[in-house]
Amino acid sequence: MESTTRRFHENARDGIANDKLQAALSRLSHGFPVKRLAAMARLPEFERLCDDARAIKEHTLANLGTYLEHYERKVIESGGHVHWAADAAEARDIILKICRDVDARTVTKGKSMISEEIAVNEHLEKNGIQPIETDLGEYIIQLRGEAPSHILAPAIHLSKDQVEDSFRKEHTGLPDERNLDEPQALLEEARAMLRRKFMAADVGITGANMLIAETGTSMIVTNEGNGDLTQTLPNTHIAIASIEKMVPTLEDASTILRILARSATGQESAVYNTFSTGPRRADDLDGPENYHVVLLDNGRSEMLGGEFHDMLRCIRCSACLNHCPVYKAIGGHAYGWVYSGPMGAVLIPGLIGLAEAHDLPGASTFCGKCEEVCPLRIPLPRMLRSWRNKSHDAGLGPVKIRFGLAVWAFLARRPGLYRLLMNTGVRILSLFGSRGRFRSLPLAGGWTSVRDLPAPQGGTFLSQWKGGRR
Ligand code: SF4
Repeated sequence: MESTTRRFHENARDGIANDKLQAALSRLSHGFPVKRLAAMARLPEFERLCDDARAIKEHTLANLGTYLEHYERKVIESGGHVHWAADAAEARDIILKICRDVDARTVTKGKSMISEEIAVNEHLEKNGIQPIETDLGEYIIQLRGEAPSHILAPAIHLSKDQVEDSFRKEHTGLPDERNLDEPQALLEEARAMLRRKFMAADVGITGANMLIAETGTSMIVTNEGNGDLTQTLPNTHIAIASIEKMVPTLEDASTILRILARSATGQESAVYNTFSTGPRRADDLDGPENYHVVLLDNGRSEMLGGEFHDMLRCIRCSACLNHCPVYKAIGGHAYGWVYSGPMGAVLIPGLIGLAEAHDLPGASTFCGKCEEVCPLRIPLPRMLRSWRNKSHDAGLGPVKIRFGLAVWAFLARRPGLYRLLMNTGVRILSLFGSRGRFRSLPLAGGWTSVRDLPAPQGGTFLSQWKGGRR
């Protein structure tokens, strides 16, 4: 997927001006967050499970090499193949070769953010193989040629009417007068379309929510069952996962599963939790004859033990997106690449470089809600601040802001001068803001272009505080 992270500000303005997107985003506040709270209330040990999950992931990351090697041995013992991909290009080539080896013409795909990260669809298409997304949201955005706007609900930015328009345009050969007024009708039409694709596919590609070292198992969580059909109907199944998806045991996986769906959608559990170990065995009723796992690094091993290490605990539950005031104002496409929201603003600069994505860490009010709701206790604001520091040190970002920060830093180191200038500034602003508000103000155009700025009342905070102590 081509990155538009450099156009973040423009993308964000477009998102705010898009009425349909705003209507879709307004539903987010009343959906997942409310259900999450209710689900947490029904599970008194939720917070303890979060601590356990954090400890499991930390232990795994501290011993990642050992668990990866154990996992590989177990996959091979069960008759599968493990492929190591250092970066996106290598992962794409591995997947293409597997598809070519079985003369694949069509590939069904379960929802996988890693496959978006490596842009495998575009690569397969370029090489004459048709990829078909089977998660309903992914299927819709594939029809529209769009990228996912949310890691869990990729088509959350669309209205029902937009989906209907896309179906009428792309599902050719069906009667024009068919009734698609109800979401159920759309669902049934998509299901009928996808059934044929499932039956014809030569290869199925899924992601993995977790990889289990103890048994060499990949596991996926879905609500639609499309992941199961993707991995059991074709003769070849490819699971693609980044290396930090590892957990040591099935018991560990079940601990994480208990907080995953609750944090994500407020469900006690996703509808389908599917564990795959190797290819079909002699007494299995179904399953693929070939089972491949592609393990992607793509910058993760460099994050291990460093400033952004904590991000490797992420289980992609999306709670930080669902609670982020910035994400809810601008939508996921504004971030310009695969991931979005606070987790995306931390992860993307690490994956595609700060030069490309230096605006994203600025997409935060630092309200701290993302860290508060993160079940893996990931300190997202701390890492956003680290990226901002790095961006500043590297001389990235607008000159105006860097100059403003330099002036502020100069004054902050000289408290006497700082107070003198602040007191003078406040007096002048009080004088000119005689009606109590400013409609426009030099150096504050970003604020006053969309709202008034209240004129200062009384002195500075410090002078009022000192006055209050007397
Ligand atoms: S950073 Fe935390 S809240 Fe956000 S997706 Fe990852 S695990 Fe969930």
